Amino acid sequence: MKSHVQAVVIGGGVVGCSVLYHLARAGWKEVLLIERSELTSGSSWHAAGGFHTLNLDPNVAKLQAYTVSLYDEIEALSGQSCGLHLTGGVMMASTPERMDFLRLAHAKGRCLGMETELITPGEAKAMFPLMDESHFIGAMWDPVEGHLDPSGTTHAYAKAARKLGAEIVLRNRVVDLTQDPDGTWNVVTEKGTVKAEHVINAAGLWAREVGRMVGIELPVLAMAHHYLLTEEMPEVVAFNQETGRELIGVIDFKGEIYTRQERNGILLGTYEKACKPWSPLTTPWDFGHELLPPDLDRIAPSLEVGFRHFPALEKAGIKQVVNGPFTFAPDANPLVGPVPGLTNYWTACAVMAGYSQGGGVGLTLANWMIEGDPGADIWAMDVARFGDWASLRYTNAKVRETYSRRFSIRFPNEELPAGRPQQTTALYDLMVRDNNAVMGDSWGLETPLWFAPSGTEAHDILSFHRSNDFAHVRHEVRTTRTAVGVTEIANFAKYEVSGPGAEAFLDRLMTNRMPRRGRIALTPILNERGKLIGDFTVAKAADDRFMVWGSLPAQRHHMRWFESHLPGDGSVAVHCFGMDLVGLSIAGPKAREVLAVLCDDDVSGEAFRFMDFRRMDVNGVPAMVNRITYSGDLGYEIWMASVYQRKVYSGIKAAGAAFGIVDFGMRALLSMRLEKNFPTWFRELRPIYGPFEAGLERFVKLEKNAFIGREAAAEEHAEGPKRRRVSFVVEAADADVMGDEPIWARVGTRDFGTIEPPHGYGAPRFDAAGHEIARRVGASIADGDWRVVGWVTSGGYAHFVEASMAQGYVPAALAGDESAGLFEIEILGERRPARITVAPPFDPKGDRMRS
Ligand SMILES: Cc1cc2nc3c(=O)[nH]c(=O)nc-3n(C[C@H](O)[C@H](O)[C@H](O)COP(=O)(O)OP(=O)(O)OC[C@H]3O[C@@H](n4cnc5c(N)ncnc54)[C@H](O)[C@@H]3O)c2cc1C
Repeated sequence: MKSHVQAVVIGGGVVGCSVLYHLARAGWKEVLLIERSELTSGSSWHAAGGFHTLNLDPNVAKLQAYTVSLYDEIEALSGQSCGLHLTGGVMMASTPERMDFLRLAHAKGRCLGMETELITPGEAKAMFPLMDESHFIGAMWDPVEGHLDPSGTTHAYAKAARKLGAEIVLRNRVVDLTQDPDGTWNVVTEKGTVKAEHVINAAGLWAREVGRMVGIELPVLAMAHHYLLTEEMPEVVAFNQETGRELIGVIDFKGEIYTRQERNGILLGTYEKACKPWSPLTTPWDFGHELLPPDLDRIAPSLEVGFRHFPALEKAGIKQVVNGPFTFAPDANPLVGPVPGLTNYWTACAVMAGYSQGGGVGLTLANWMIEGDPGADIWAMDVARFGDWASLRYTNAKVRETYSRRFSIRFPNEELPAGRPQQTTALYDLMVRDNNAVMGDSWGLETPLWFAPSGTEAHDILSFHRSNDFAHVRHEVRTTRTAVGVTEIANFAKYEVSGPGAEAFLDRLMTNRMPRRGRIALTPILNERGKLIGDFTVAKAADDRFMVWGSLPAQRHHMRWFESHLPGDGSVAVHCFGMDLVGLSIAGPKAREVLAVLCDDDVSGEAFRFMDFRRMDVNGVPAMVNRITYSGDLGYEIWMASVYQRKVYSGIKAAGAAFGIVDFGMRALLSMRLEKNFPTWFRELRPIYGPFEAGLERFVKLEKNAFIGREAAAEEHAEGPKRRRVSFVVEAADADVMGDEPIWARVGTRDFGTIEPPHGYGAPRFDAAGHEIARRVGASIADGDWRVVGWVTSGGYAHFVEASMAQGYVPAALAGDESAGLFEIEILGERRPARITVAPPFDPKGDRMRS
């Protein structure tokens, strides 16, 4: 074993081996993987080996597609077979809601370059004759699905990595990690200590324990998971003989089961409701290559449905029951990246689908470690996406919910209850008990979504269509726009950047000029590749002190970025307030009159102008006030220590009573931003977009000092963006867009330039051997004169202008074309006419917010 290396990968499961391979492939030669037992000794050896590309997050889907495409490469390099069976697979719908879900997934697939198809139960049965098709109403076929040999695949990564110079040490447990003052890690193992610049926690079932070695509690939990293997089944053998093909994979959402051919029988796995965590507090180090005792009672309800839907299975003999543990994060996405607050400690864990995602995780991490950037939009997997609030018990509750809902529909207006309420502000009981608020979860914080008038039930009726909140959100928007409304905005990230070097520091990070004292600037931040990694409001409070507001879910990500760019001379300090500082926003034409009642300062339009920042007392408590709101109306953001929040809120309500003030929630706020064409972070603004294509040119000052990403941004500017963010008015029926829907354009032979789908990975590399249903490559993005030219990022109903609206990206050549009949947006399988609106439909000149 080497004594000094660039990186030690802890764990020889499929993920650790993939990380090792990618580091070696990128040219790092001094890389060492340490495995406490044999390779695959965690959950990797007993996986069912299924893989697929479909994921509800298009960026994760892209990494899954990369993983699948990698298997040829590692087989060729290692000489080790991965045992690939590219069978294709279907997802079966038993209800109209599930069919809507499949329509959405299929539409999303168009933006990904996927060749999925909606098919009939009869067509599905032709590929999997064991099913009783009368239980289903439709299905979606995906040709890029299959299964592989989990052990062979892990060894293929390992052998390929070794060929590239990496070292693997087996039967040697890492028992501790300490760090020298210069940042070097001491990786203490049973066979001695290795010095490493970087350590990677790829410890799978033991990721928590390897986290605890450095004092962190990673939000990850193992769940016990079953699959059954049948004896040889004559129906399977007959199908193989008659068609010369293998059976496809099937997901039956109703039964919460997945099934596929394994040798001459069937493998059937369940995501049962009565799920069970394994080793919820500590994973025993002596857990070896072993399975858990079968617990068939727990999965009996799923099996009953399965036997009805696939009758031949009931008669089949069971050869083996596999019950094994594997890990999940609260949202079932991996935890990847540098852990905030530590140097050179990386995670690649909580990978619940190692054979779909392991390659993408390895690539991402290697990019990040070597280039300083993951090279893709991996926000959904970033280890920084959870805060301290994702505690052990929270994780336990959330992972059980996530596992049990693996095959459940998540409706766009659905807020999941497990682990909540976790964080509440001082207004929680006032809003919920007194004001009938329907609350949502915003990064672990309870946040009002909408308010049900008394006598109305305060909950959402789940739907893909407009639902019971519609009329109430409209009331909130209309009252705000015609009089005044108040909403809680604790769900922002709030920072203070101070010290003699504060302005220079912000100037280096931010694309816009820093404001003068008492003024506010809006500014994105970019990575070195010139892509958007943040969008902030900055106020200059004093010569050496700035207040900064950003996205709450990105708070730890941004703190990590700030801290990693701090100058070494101590001239700058960044403080993150968390929930010590909370906010309220008042908006609408009467907002100024409400504020005037509450403070002694002159808040007239001349004295307190649009984009001003003031420290002032509001209702007798110290506060900071920004003359800006995301509603795009006249309005204010009032920030105060949390101990004062109730007093400010009650003062606003009392002062606003004369004007009929209304409480409004996030849904009303998002509706109002839509009619102003304002983008939103995580939807329109993500690291796959540059600032010019996102329409943020006003906030990018290329001529100012050298900020991070300026060169790349200048290039984007000089070449002109290839695609642009646009807003649409959509002729929707009773459902609005949700995000990720395809945008069609009647372009005929018109040359509009081509744009790569941001998440797209092109046509599947594999030929779905002989399955005729996968015949129409390219068919999903063209239809006569119509072509899929872009994708929706978000949308909804804009209640004041009374229009269904959407935002998305289209080729730059089409972005200014407001003509009717040019665009259609696919909503729940139906293409609805849409028209670009370059100017915001509400207050196009911005007179209201400047008044
Ligand atoms: C029943 C079942 C079916 C599944 N089916 C599928 C499927 O069809 N498709 C799919 O994609 N996924 C499936 N999975 C999930 C899949 O197994 C996991 O996603 C994958 O194995 C995760 O790999 P890993 O490398 O992260 O973790 P692990 O496989 O747990 O590997 C971690 C490794 O780290 C080592 N280690 C830990 N701590 C230390 C230490 N301190 N020092 C040295 N070594 C250490 C362990 O010994 C272990 O070998 C299934 C899982 C189960 C249980």
